[in-house]
Amino acid sequence: MNLKNEYFKLCYTKRIHEFSKIDQLKKWESGKAKSTFKTLDEFYMQELNISKEQLTELRDEFVEFNKLYTRYFNEQRQELFNHPTEFLKWYNDQNGSCNYCAITQEELLKIVTNRDGNLTLNNKTKRSKGTLEIEKLDPNQGYTFKNSVLACPFCNNAKSNLISEEDWREFFKPAMQQYHKKLLSKQ
Ligand SMILES: [Zn+2]
Repeated sequence: MNLKNEYFKLCYTKRIHEFSKIDQLKKWESGKAKSTFKTLDEFYMQELNISKEQLTELRDEFVEFNKLYTRYFNEQRQELFNHPTEFLKWYNDQNGSCNYCAITQEELLKIVTNRDGNLTLNNKTKRSKGTLEIEKLDPNQGYTFKNSVLACPFCNNAKSNLISEEDWREFFKPAMQQYHKKLLSKQ
Protein backbone atom coordinates (compact mmCIF):
# COMPACT_ATOMS: atom_id res chain seq x y z
CA MET A 1 0.00 0.00 0.00
CA ASN A 2 1.37 3.42 -0.79
CA LEU A 3 1.95 6.13 1.75
CA LYS A 4 -0.95 8.29 0.68
CA ASN A 5 -3.38 5.40 1.10
CA GLU A 6 -1.92 4.49 4.45
CA TYR A 7 -2.23 8.04 5.67
CA PHE A 8 -5.78 8.21 4.36
CA LYS A 9 -6.72 5.03 6.15
CA LEU A 10 -5.39 6.22 9.50
CA CYS A 11 -6.86 9.68 9.25
CA TYR A 12 -10.20 9.13 7.49
CA THR A 13 -11.12 5.46 7.77
CA LYS A 14 -9.83 4.64 11.25
CA ARG A 15 -10.23 8.30 12.15
CA ILE A 16 -7.29 8.60 14.49
CA HIS A 17 -7.92 12.12 15.72
CA GLU A 18 -7.38 11.56 19.42
CA PHE A 19 -5.15 9.48 21.64
CA SER A 20 -7.90 7.12 22.75
CA LYS A 21 -8.32 6.02 19.13
CA ILE A 22 -4.65 5.01 19.07
CA ASP A 23 -5.21 2.87 22.17
CA GLN A 24 -8.13 1.19 20.42
CA LEU A 25 -6.19 0.68 17.21
CA LYS A 26 -3.20 -0.83 18.99
CA LYS A 27 -5.33 -2.68 21.52
CA TRP A 28 -3.38 -0.88 24.24
CA GLU A 29 -4.67 -0.20 27.68
CA SER A 30 -6.41 3.14 27.96
CA GLY A 31 -3.96 6.02 28.38
CA LYS A 32 -0.91 4.34 26.91
CA ALA A 33 -0.93 6.36 23.68
CA LYS A 34 -1.07 9.60 25.61
CA SER A 35 2.00 8.65 27.60
CA THR A 36 3.81 7.32 24.52
CA PHE A 37 3.30 10.22 22.10
CA LYS A 38 3.55 13.92 22.86
CA THR A 39 1.34 14.79 19.92
CA LEU A 40 -0.82 13.02 17.38
CA ASP A 41 1.68 14.11 14.72
CA GLU A 42 4.30 12.06 16.53
CA PHE A 43 2.09 9.00 16.24
CA TYR A 44 1.47 9.55 12.52
CA MET A 45 5.20 10.06 11.88
CA GLN A 46 6.16 6.89 13.70
CA GLU A 47 3.33 4.77 12.35
CA LEU A 48 4.00 5.76 8.74
CA ASN A 49 7.75 6.00 9.29
CA ILE A 50 7.91 9.50 7.84
CA SER A 51 9.34 12.92 8.70
CA LYS A 52 7.39 15.98 9.79
CA GLU A 53 7.85 17.42 6.29
CA GLN A 54 6.38 14.30 4.69
CA LEU A 55 3.43 14.45 7.05
CA THR A 56 2.82 18.06 6.06
CA GLU A 57 2.98 17.09 2.39
CA LEU A 58 0.45 14.31 2.92
CA ARG A 59 -1.90 16.69 4.69
CA ASP A 60 -1.53 19.19 1.86
CA GLU A 61 -2.73 16.56 -0.58
CA PHE A 62 -5.99 16.27 1.35
CA VAL A 63 -6.65 19.96 2.05
CA GLU A 64 -9.79 20.18 -0.11
CA PHE A 65 -11.07 16.82 1.01
CA ASN A 66 -10.41 17.63 4.65
CA LYS A 67 -12.44 20.82 4.43
CA LEU A 68 -15.45 18.86 3.18
CA TYR A 69 -14.81 16.05 5.63
CA THR A 70 -14.91 18.52 8.50
CA ARG A 71 -18.11 20.03 7.17
CA TYR A 72 -20.02 16.92 6.19
CA PHE A 73 -18.71 13.73 7.78
CA ASN A 74 -20.94 11.59 9.90
CA GLU A 75 -20.82 7.84 10.37
CA GLN A 76 -23.75 7.13 8.08
CA ARG A 77 -21.85 8.84 5.30
CA GLN A 78 -18.64 6.88 5.85
CA GLU A 79 -19.05 5.12 2.49
CA LEU A 80 -18.89 8.43 0.61
CA PHE A 81 -15.79 9.49 2.49
CA ASN A 82 -13.97 6.23 1.85
CA HIS A 83 -13.38 7.36 -1.72
CA PRO A 84 -11.71 10.78 -1.65
CA THR A 85 -11.20 11.22 -5.40
CA GLU A 86 -14.76 10.22 -6.23
CA PHE A 87 -16.03 12.33 -3.38
CA LEU A 88 -14.33 15.45 -4.70
CA LYS A 89 -15.64 14.72 -8.18
CA TRP A 90 -19.16 14.23 -6.82
CA TYR A 91 -18.89 17.48 -4.87
CA ASN A 92 -17.69 19.47 -7.88
CA ASP A 93 -20.53 18.05 -9.96
CA GLN A 94 -22.98 19.64 -7.52
CA ASN A 95 -21.93 23.11 -8.73
CA GLY A 96 -22.23 24.62 -5.28
CA SER A 97 -25.99 24.79 -5.49
CA CYS A 98 -29.15 23.07 -4.28
CA ASN A 99 -30.10 20.13 -6.46
CA TYR A 100 -33.79 20.96 -6.11
CA CYS A 101 -34.21 24.73 -6.27
CA ALA A 102 -30.75 25.69 -7.62
CA ILE A 103 -30.06 28.32 -4.98
CA THR A 104 -26.30 28.76 -4.66
CA GLN A 105 -24.14 28.75 -1.56
CA GLU A 106 -23.44 32.46 -2.10
CA GLU A 107 -27.15 33.24 -2.24
CA LEU A 108 -27.78 31.28 0.93
CA LEU A 109 -25.10 33.31 2.68
CA LYS A 110 -26.77 36.46 1.44
CA ILE A 111 -30.02 35.31 3.07
CA VAL A 112 -28.07 34.67 6.27
CA THR A 113 -26.83 38.27 6.11
CA ASN A 114 -30.32 39.57 5.39
CA ARG A 115 -31.51 37.69 8.44
CA ASP A 116 -28.89 39.27 10.69
CA GLY A 117 -26.45 36.38 10.74
CA ASN A 118 -28.67 33.33 11.09
CA LEU A 119 -30.53 31.34 8.52
CA THR A 120 -32.88 29.88 11.11
CA LEU A 121 -35.45 32.15 12.68
CA ASN A 122 -34.45 31.26 16.22
CA ASN A 123 -30.62 31.07 15.81
CA LYS A 124 -30.74 27.42 16.72
CA THR A 125 -29.13 24.36 15.10
CA LYS A 126 -26.15 24.34 12.81
CA ARG A 127 -28.55 25.13 9.99
CA SER A 128 -28.25 28.74 11.07
CA LYS A 129 -24.98 28.98 9.12
CA GLY A 130 -26.75 28.44 5.82
CA THR A 131 -24.46 25.70 4.52
CA LEU A 132 -25.64 23.47 1.69
CA GLU A 133 -26.39 20.01 3.08
CA ILE A 134 -25.89 16.46 1.81
CA GLU A 135 -29.26 14.90 1.16
CA LYS A 136 -30.38 11.46 0.01
CA LEU A 137 -32.65 11.49 -3.04
CA ASP A 138 -34.28 8.26 -1.96
CA PRO A 139 -34.46 8.11 1.85
CA ASN A 140 -34.76 4.31 1.71
CA GLN A 141 -31.31 4.00 0.28
CA GLY A 142 -27.96 4.80 1.80
CA TYR A 143 -25.48 7.54 1.09
CA THR A 144 -24.08 6.48 -2.27
CA PHE A 145 -22.76 8.93 -4.86
CA LYS A 146 -25.77 8.23 -7.03
CA ASN A 147 -28.25 8.74 -4.23
CA SER A 148 -26.65 11.84 -2.70
CA VAL A 149 -27.01 15.47 -3.71
CA LEU A 150 -26.39 18.86 -2.17
CA ALA A 151 -29.58 20.53 -1.04
CA CYS A 152 -30.27 23.85 0.64
CA PRO A 153 -31.54 23.72 4.22
CA PHE A 154 -34.96 24.99 3.09
CA CYS A 155 -35.56 22.18 0.58
CA ASN A 156 -33.88 19.54 2.72
CA ASN A 157 -35.86 20.37 5.81
CA ALA A 158 -39.20 20.86 4.11
CA LYS A 159 -38.97 17.81 1.88
CA SER A 160 -37.54 15.64 4.64
CA ASN A 161 -38.68 12.03 4.34
CA LEU A 162 -42.25 13.09 3.65
CA ILE A 163 -42.17 14.17 0.03
CA SER A 164 -40.61 12.26 -2.83
CA GLU A 165 -37.99 13.81 -5.04
CA GLU A 166 -40.33 13.97 -8.04
CA ASP A 167 -43.19 15.50 -6.09
CA TRP A 168 -40.88 18.01 -4.49
CA ARG A 169 -39.72 19.19 -7.91
CA GLU A 170 -43.25 19.33 -9.28
CA PHE A 171 -45.14 20.96 -6.43
CA PHE A 172 -42.68 22.77 -4.22
CA LYS A 173 -39.65 23.80 -6.24
CA PRO A 174 -41.45 26.71 -7.97
CA ALA A 175 -42.77 27.99 -4.65
CA MET A 176 -39.36 27.64 -3.02
CA GLN A 177 -37.71 29.58 -5.80
CA GLN A 178 -40.23 32.39 -5.41
CA TYR A 179 -39.71 32.41 -1.68
CA HIS A 180 -35.94 32.62 -2.09
CA LYS A 181 -36.39 35.47 -4.53
CA LYS A 182 -38.29 37.37 -1.89
CA LEU A 183 -35.63 36.65 0.76
CA LEU A 184 -32.85 37.71 -1.59
CA SER A 185 -34.52 40.94 -2.64
CA LYS A 186 -34.49 42.27 0.93
CA GLN A 187 -31.77 44.83 1.48
ZN1 LIG B 1 -33.23 24.25 -2.30
